[in-house]
Amino acid sequence: MASAAEVAAMRRAIALSAAGLGTTSPNPPVGCVLLDPQARIVGEGYHERKGEAHAEAQALAAAGPLAAGATAVVTLEPCNHQGRTPPCRQALIDAGIKRAVIAVIDPTSRGEGGVTALRRAGVDVETGVLSAEARTVLGGWLEGLQNRRPLITWPYLITARGVEAIPGDTAEAQLLHLNADAVLAADGTVREAVPGSHGKGILTLEDQPPGTPAAEAAASLYDGGVRYLLLDGDHDAARPFLAAALVDRVIACMPHGEPSRRPAADLPWPLLPPGFVVAGAVRTDSFVRVDGRPEALG
Ligand SMILES: [Zn+2]
Repeated sequence: MASAAEVAAMRRAIALSAAGLGTTSPNPPVGCVLLDPQARIVGEGYHERKGEAHAEAQALAAAGPLAAGATAVVTLEPCNHQGRTPPCRQALIDAGIKRAVIAVIDPTSRGEGGVTALRRAGVDVETGVLSAEARTVLGGWLEGLQNRRPLITWPYLITARGVEAIPGDTAEAQLLHLNADAVLAADGTVREAVPGSHGKGILTLEDQPPGTPAAEAAASLYDGGVRYLLLDGDHDAARPFLAAALVDRVIACMPHGEPSRRPAADLPWPLLPPGFVVAGAVRTDSFVRVDGRPEALG
């Protein structure tokens, strides 16, 4: 069983993994913390960008010789394949890691992943530690893998004028851009959510010709490396994605500051599209921001 110190370190690794959101795609956002035998953190890291060191390698580099005999606490199963960087399971073995505590098994490993190789090398491995919590960060990437399309978020402003695209200069829009890979505009143009954030040539962003079915556009963006997509548009622009049940998350921003008012009578819906439920609500400078998610099926 994972110790209290390992569980606590996993929560830190989950936080580290989130630092890779918006830059790691098409790779997963992963975090890693190394604990010495006295359960002190001797190194930590996260994967920032495809082609750069993975979380485990970043943590090992930080720990240096202190990695010998340490426990690696990592949010996703260490990789077992030679990619642009050497496989992490080998780096962990070479560094003298004694134990590995893992949250989520990489579904692409099919039993041939880092866990098998680490165990073969005599490393004590425990899996499934805080996997639900790790999925709060990894979930979008895992779902994308399954659905072969990006996680799609549609932020909008709901005012007396109706449902509009959220203005790009709001704090809400900027936060969403930081956590996304690409933005699909109503006219079909596609741009990187934060220009230059993925490094050159990692994402292949092709504009979607007018009339491209939503599912086709989503699949094409996935093939281009996009894992987190923002829809930038009003209700008309989002409608095909909503109709095809391709919207995973809506962010409804509703202005506040008028405690008594009579809203427009012709809104498409009072707050959220049909089938969406409130997952959270906060007050910001000018809006109430509501996170909406599809109602769980079954
Ligand atoms: Zn790796």
